[in-house]
Amino acid sequence: QAAGEPDRADSSRWIVTLDGPAGTGKSSVARMVATRLSLTVLDTGAMYRAAALLTIRLSIDPKDGAEIAAAIGVHHIEMDFDVEPANVLLDGRDLGDEIRGSEVESIVSVVAAHPEVRTRLVAVQREIASLHSRLVTEGRDQGSVVFPDADARFFLTASSGVRAKRRVDQLRAMGRDVDPDAVLHGI
Ligand code: C5P
Repeated sequence: QAAGEPDRADSSRWIVTLDGPAGTGKSSVARMVATRLSLTVLDTGAMYRAAALLTIRLSIDPKDGAEIAAAIGVHHIEMDFDVEPANVLLDGRDLGDEIRGSEVESIVSVVAAHPEVRTRLVAVQREIASLHSRLVTEGRDQGSVVFPDADARFFLTASSGVRAKRRVDQLRAMGRDVDPDAVLHGI
C-alpha cells in the first residue's frame, strides 16, 4: 500500500472490474486481486451458465431470448457468498459441475447474447453489488456496462495462442477430449 492510498482493508465500498474475452485469465486474476484486497469474487460467467442450464432443463429453445428471460424472472439465479469461492444457485440449489459441462458450454454464448437475458442478469449483478460492496467482478461487460463507476476497471488481453492454450488446459482438467486446433480456430 503506497503512502496516501486509502486503506483497502477497511469495510468501505470497493469494486474492481475485470473485463476481457475468454482465456485472458480473468478468473485467476480475480482470485489474486480478491485475496490481496480482501474482496469477494463475483463470477458472472457462472450466472450465464446457470441461465443456460435453466434453458436446457425447461427445454426452451436457446434462440428464444424472451422465453429464457421470462424463465429467469420466475426461477431465481443468485450467488451463495457463504461459501468460498461463491457458488451460483438456481432456485436455492447448488448447480455443481453441471454448469461446466459440454451441454451448457454448447449453448451458453447463444443464451448470453440475448439482450433480455443480459438485462435480467445485470440487474441481479447490481443488486449483489449493493449488498456486497467489496467485490472483484469478472466478465466481459463488468467495467464497460454493468459497473462503469467502479473504483478500478481493468481490461485483460492475451494473444490467441495463449488464450487457446488456457482454454485447452481448462477443458482437459474437466476431463474433456479437445482438439487444440479447433479451440484456436474458435478463438
Ligand atoms: O467466463 P465463463 O466462460 O464462465 O462465461 C461463460 C459464457 O457466458 C461466456 O462465454 C459468455 O458467452 C457469457 N458471459 C457473458 N457476459 C459475462 C460473463 C459471461 O456474456 N459478463
